[in-house]
Amino acid sequence: MRSLTCIVCPIGCSLEVDDSSPDNLSVTGNKCPRGAAYAVEEIRSPKRTVTAVCRAEGASGIDLRVPVKTAVPCPKEKITALLHDIYKTKIRLPIKTGDKVIANWSGQGLDVVATRTFS
Ligand code: SF4
Repeated sequence: MRSLTCIVCPIGCSLEVDDSSPDNLSVTGNKCPRGAAYAVEEIRSPKRTVTAVCRAEGASGIDLRVPVKTAVPCPKEKITALLHDIYKTKIRLPIKTGDKVIANWSGQGLDVVATRTFS
């Protein structure tokens, strides 16, 4: 049995997951189906949206830090490798919110995008 707090909405239901049969997880405590889907994914294939900052060089040669995030959640076990690649990336300015900083990272279909505009 595993206990989780659903993070899909602010209610934060306390979920209990019976994982005694891995092929047939049983979720209780959820007030809606999204909670059950969240619990199953969290146990089978947990993912997180990753936020970080990326180096950029401004027009005057000044080092800047541009905030970035993954456009879709990243598998938890790949977050360290993704952060390593984000931190070694240097952005060429200008960049707009939503522009891809890294496209299709590691063939995962996962883009890293800027969350702020810098000119
Ligand atoms: S189970 Fe449904 S109602 Fe409860 S926190 Fe998750 S999304 Fe919200």
